Amino acid sequence: MSVVDAPTVSTAVAEPREIVLTGVLTRADHETYKELGFDVPSGVSRITVDFDFTTREQKTTIDLGLMDPDRFRGWSGGDKMRFTVGELDATPSYLPGPVVPGRWTLLLGVPNIRPGVVAAYTATIRLGRGEATEVSAFSDEPLEVGPRWYRGDLHMHTCHSDGTVATQGGQKRAPGPVYRTVEAAAARGCDFIAITDHNAVSHHHAMRELQPHFDRLLLIPGVEVTTFRGHAGVLGAAGFVEFRLESRHLPTVGDLQHAVARQHGLFAINHPALPSNEYCMGCGWTATGTDFGRVDAIEVCNGGAMQAQGGGADGVFSGVPFWEARLNEGHRITAIGGSDNHKPDGDPESAPAVGSPTTVVWAESLSERAVLDAIRAGRVFVDVEGMKGRVLALNATAGEASAMMGEALAAPAGTTARFVVTTRGLSGARLDVVLDGRHGAILADVEVYGDAAEFAFELAGDGARHWIRVDARSADGERTLVIGNPVYLNG
Ligand SMILES: [Zn+2]
Ligand SMILES: [Zn+2]
Repeated sequence: MSVVDAPTVSTAVAEPREIVLTGVLTRADHETYKELGFDVPSGVSRITVDFDFTTREQKTTIDLGLMDPDRFRGWSGGDKMRFTVGELDATPSYLPGPVVPGRWTLLLGVPNIRPGVVAAYTATIRLGRGEATEVSAFSDEPLEVGPRWYRGDLHMHTCHSDGTVATQGGQKRAPGPVYRTVEAAAARGCDFIAITDHNAVSHHHAMRELQPHFDRLLLIPGVEVTTFRGHAGVLGAAGFVEFRLESRHLPTVGDLQHAVARQHGLFAINHPALPSNEYCMGCGWTATGTDFGRVDAIEVCNGGAMQAQGGGADGVFSGVPFWEARLNEGHRITAIGGSDNHKPDGDPESAPAVGSPTTVVWAESLSERAVLDAIRAGRVFVDVEGMKGRVLALNATAGEASAMMGEALAAPAGTTARFVVTTRGLSGARLDVVLDGRHGAILADVEVYGDAAEFAFELAGDGARHWIRVDARSADGERTLVIGNPVYLNG
């Protein structure tokens, strides 16, 4: 190796977040391999490499690969100038796995550099430490920019737990590849999905591979933390979430909630009203000591529970009463839905289809950060029948202040709070205004006229805390079509 080739390394002193390796290549490096070493400190869970070099126009070509201190981690040739290697997922060409501290090596191959050419290269190596996702776990850019209602499914299973599809021969069922679930969601018109296998996180690697192809369907990493005391939907967490509740590993549900928060995950309680028995083990939420102040969402409508009660959101397994009881306790928790699909090719009559129900969020962009922020903020309604293009928005004003679903509005005694319900695709439906859990307390049975409709009502502020939300029901009043989140008066 000539002196001119020696890479220069610059790092910050404490806990480097970025390592930059620079150098030049000449004809002397033609058809050779080079090794650029760099030190990875402990506590790093992801390495992301951005590589760039000059004189491409003169046909200079540089291939890339990576070694950790012990083994080969991948080779992407001249195909990828950016790649990432994490504990659970890696860019195709690379192996996910432990990011062990020590001396790593960026491998360069030089298939071509012409005589007389001097190619300058820069490798920028970013060291991730499990921080919150900036945009999305599997995409560096939002898939779409701009606020609108984005529709998706937050609960589904693949071969990484107990999801199945018919085999190629069609005579039996086999573990369902992740791509089949993702294709089903794309075909349904979903904007986003979270894949939430039971306690497993091995699906992350497949999602990393699929996201670039599915550039109109955001893939959100998830896990259904499946305990003997209930199932928690954890969305957007960076890694494995300990699930062995009431063991030495995870003594209390508070410890579980703490672990999820440490990983920047969104914590939802899934299908809280399902029973816990030999048919549905640990399905109902019976965990004592739950800190509802740290519950971001409750799955009020679950596709499997709908099937179990004969279809529809209304019945003994609805999560709405459990959720409304928490709202009456003073918590602000977002109602969401999830299909709990286990068969992306299943007959919708006998198994919940992907997207049934749909969770619809008002997000600033189609990115994981924006979608999860919208859920945390409560800018959400649940479209029970799924992907019908229905909209039910609730906005309120009091004096100069205004709020949308999920937000609080100050309405001191003597003021009047004005509410506007905006609907799409609900002609003939009936609006059900719910005040502090009481249906029909303000208005009963308001019919929606037209595909795009607006309806206003008022409430005299008494200075106390109230929550007001609106559902849409079928014309005969029998079925809930849309479940809306509340506006909170005075907190
Ligand atoms: Zn479950
Ligand atoms: Zn599930």
